[in-house]
Amino acid sequence: MTPIEATYELIRRYDVHARKRFGQNFLTDPRVLDKIIDAAEITEDDFVLEIGPGLGTMTRALCEHAGNVLAVEIDYDLADILERELVPLYDNLEILVGDILKQDIREIAESRGKGRPIKVVANLPYYITTPILMELLESRVPLHSITVMVQKEVADRMMAEPGAKDCGAISLAVQYYAEPYLAANVPPNCFTPRPKVASAVIRLKRREEPPVETQDEHLMFKLIRAAFAQRRKTLLNAISNSPELDFDKDTVSHAITEVGLEPAVRGEKLDITTYARLADALSKHYEKR
Ligand code: SAM
Repeated sequence: MTPIEATYELIRRYDVHARKRFGQNFLTDPRVLDKIIDAAEITEDDFVLEIGPGLGTMTRALCEHAGNVLAVEIDYDLADILERELVPLYDNLEILVGDILKQDIREIAESRGKGRPIKVVANLPYYITTPILMELLESRVPLHSITVMVQKEVADRMMAEPGAKDCGAISLAVQYYAEPYLAANVPPNCFTPRPKVASAVIRLKRREEPPVETQDEHLMFKLIRAAFAQRRKTLLNAISNSPELDFDKDTVSHAITEVGLEPAVRGEKLDITTYARLADALSKHYEKR
């Protein structure tokens, strides 16, 4: 039986009804499954963290390729099915029942992964895409790569060049920490039930060094968030009005000129190097944290 056939069989036998509140859309296309596994470049030395295994479609393929797999599933009923049906088949699989956002991923990497840089693979529930990706990228967990199914629109944003219409704070953040690669576009008919929107598989390979240096990374991301939260405003107004920051207008204006920008520039046009320089120019001044 293929992983997809096995998934349909489990749906029938356990009379599984997808739970909307957990973003459950089960993968049913074998070609997409192959693309995810190929993009993730899993080897037998790897420790893989799978987020939201569902009925174990990808889990089976991951267990065939990886050294160890830890799958974190929030839905108690699905985790129970996995414990009964998959754990006896694979001695390199562990199921953890819980919310991934409440797990200590650093501790997981140390205890289960024994310090190996982890590979995260997931067909992500769309409601937690941004928090989980940012948590993984920003925290200093040993991370090799993240290969995930996300909404197509989110994948496009993660890949967007500075100044492009769909470039947002997440584009700059993702590209600062990782090199994104679009592995596949995935239409709604590759899942059951069908989601309303198109999806895409994206791989984020963690950079060893960030593409630009700044004295205050924390401030740089506050500036980026402020600029994109009010992207129709000038950079000067967006930063001066931000509730996250406490710079007076003169200070901001001075810093904008110091890095060689026009006074009326809008933040959505700028690249990460410019934000790094702006953060350095402003870090000399008082900042409210
Ligand atoms: N991996 C399966 C597949 O490809 O068919 C299921 C993917 S489904 C889009 C998302 C899965 O994530 C579901 O099994 C859901 O119960 C689980 N999930 C949702 N929120 C979660 C959370 N906060 N932590 C862990 N798992 C979660």
